[in-house]
Amino acid sequence: MNRGAFRSWIIGLLVVLAMVALLTTFMNGQPSPQSGLTLSDLARDIKAGKVQQITVAGDDLRVRYTTNPQQERITRKEHSIDLTETMRRLGVTDAQLVAVKLEVVAPSFWTNWGPLIGSILPVLLLGGFIFLMMRQAQGGNNQAMSFGKSRARMFGGDKPTVTFVDVAGVEEAKHELAEVVEFLKEPEKFIALGARIPKGVLMVGPPGCGKTLMAKAVAGEAGVPFFSISGSEFVEMFVGVGASRVRDLFEQAKRHSPCIIFVDEIDAVGRHRGAGLGGSHDEREQTLNQILVEMDGFDTDTNVIIIAATNRPDILDPALLRPGRFDRRVIIDRPDKQGRRHILDVHVRGKPLDRTVNLDTVAKLTVGFSGADLENLVNEAAILAARRNAKAINMKDITEAVEKVTAGPERKSRVISPQDKRIIAVYEAGQAIVRHALPNCDPVHKISIVARGMNEGYVTSRPEEDRTMTPKAKFEDEIAARLGGRAAEELSFGDVTVRAHDDLERATKFARMMVTQFGMSEALGPIMFGEKDELVFLGREIGEQRNYSEAVAQRIDREVQRIVNEGYERARSVLTAQREQLNALANLLLERETVDSNEFEALFDQQPQAGMAAA
Ligand code: ADP
Ligand code: MG
Repeated sequence: MNRGAFRSWIIGLLVVLAMVALLTTFMNGQPSPQSGLTLSDLARDIKAGKVQQITVAGDDLRVRYTTNPQQERITRKEHSIDLTETMRRLGVTDAQLVAVKLEVVAPSFWTNWGPLIGSILPVLLLGGFIFLMMRQAQGGNNQAMSFGKSRARMFGGDKPTVTFVDVAGVEEAKHELAEVVEFLKEPEKFIALGARIPKGVLMVGPPGCGKTLMAKAVAGEAGVPFFSISGSEFVEMFVGVGASRVRDLFEQAKRHSPCIIFVDEIDAVGRHRGAGLGGSHDEREQTLNQILVEMDGFDTDTNVIIIAATNRPDILDPALLRPGRFDRRVIIDRPDKQGRRHILDVHVRGKPLDRTVNLDTVAKLTVGFSGADLENLVNEAAILAARRNAKAINMKDITEAVEKVTAGPERKSRVISPQDKRIIAVYEAGQAIVRHALPNCDPVHKISIVARGMNEGYVTSRPEEDRTMTPKAKFEDEIAARLGGRAAEELSFGDVTVRAHDDLERATKFARMMVTQFGMSEALGPIMFGEKDELVFLGREIGEQRNYSEAVAQRIDREVQRIVNEGYERARSVLTAQREQLNALANLLLERETVDSNEFEALFDQQPQAGMAAA
């Protein structure tokens, strides 16, 4: 505890002590109601004619006796019943009463309010104490009242600091977000056509690729205020604070509408509910629920759009992703060669470059770099140039900076060697070609050899229609496609690498599911094998209980093996037949890093030409 906080503790303590002291002296200075004289004693004395005068002050009675008129004895009557009535009940006749001189005076302040103050004061003191403690826990002076207030920082919409020009290499994402900008600028246009304005946009992508930058650019383009908060800022030590902060944030946003709320790293609060061990009512969950409630509570004419960013979309609660919430997903991926070139262009603005510098070459050198890495690279190069007292950055500065950034401790993506790059290209090409050839695979959408998350390279395919009733043939084709990468490696290099690991795992899993869960194996028939154990606590399956014999287990294994092997053979025969396309695609990937569906389809349109570059 720091010195300031310690001092206010002491002051608080002193105030309390002073009040207690004051209270006790006050009480002592006052007549104590119990002084030995009871009401029946009084009645007896009146009957005996010993009482000269009674002064009534509220409920207090001061009694003077004829025997000793100088001394007052004190007692209390019952509240709400007056004295004559009380005495009559105790058998005092009216005649006897008349003999006593009755005097009524205004009750003193203390007799009126004393009991009340006495009962309220401790409560007040306690309240004050708790208040002080809260203040200390907050560690600040004026934060006690703003405990449940959101911590969002607001950036005004009047002077755009970042625009789309500053974000490079993510053209698809820009295109999708341009729509959001239009919504914010001219909502009437969309409302007139009865269109529902999207409420939430989820930006997904690896760190450093420009998610935060992109959100700022959207606000800058639309010229609206921008509230920025990080998911972890909602959650505090005290329960209920997160939810109250969410409420406050949305209140503020509605007041500034149209505007953008940006929740960075939303996975901190948006994690799958019921997946933790903290029971169902933990703080994070309440916060998430509040976000969902607020998003549902928006009227269609509130022009508040929520943009959230995460690099773990897989752990988000499904409720966040359904329509009416974060129903738009924008992928912000690591840039490919062309993208890197554009990002470099953005960051060399205002930095003098030597004639030796060729940014295309730099883009080629920096496979796997994210936008943040490239920014860092340019900065390092500028520092190197300044240190040699040069007027401009030259190519040597840049290559040195590449080494520096690559070797640096914070390097997350690594540079891939040419051999590895070739293997990745062949692998991905193989998978894409098998997918293309088999009738039940989804069409190939994009092929890339740029690192994404943990694995370098990927083929994305998108289903043409929704099918939840997956037929057996589709499983078989999917398994063959997964094994296409390995088959391509084997065909091209005569050897295989660890590259296939993930796909082998998937293919085997599919094959096992076909046999044990969907009854798709003729040898074993339509039987489900194994019972799933579910741990309610974790909300996840944790294992499988075997309910079949060892002999059946062996047959299952054999069936799985057969399915996988057949898939592999099919992949091989496809690739052997389309060897030219495989080589052409691999070369295209090596050159361009990403190939989209049009370029991919074009490979199959042209007649295979003799002498096309061999892998
Ligand atoms: P994220 O939020 O995805 O982790 P940021 O948006 O914070 O990444 O990016 C960090 C920095 O890297 C940005 O401030 C910017 O200078 C640079 N940067 C990242 N991506 C890009 C890009 N696509 N274009 C230009 N600069 C970028
Ligand atoms: Mg960020």
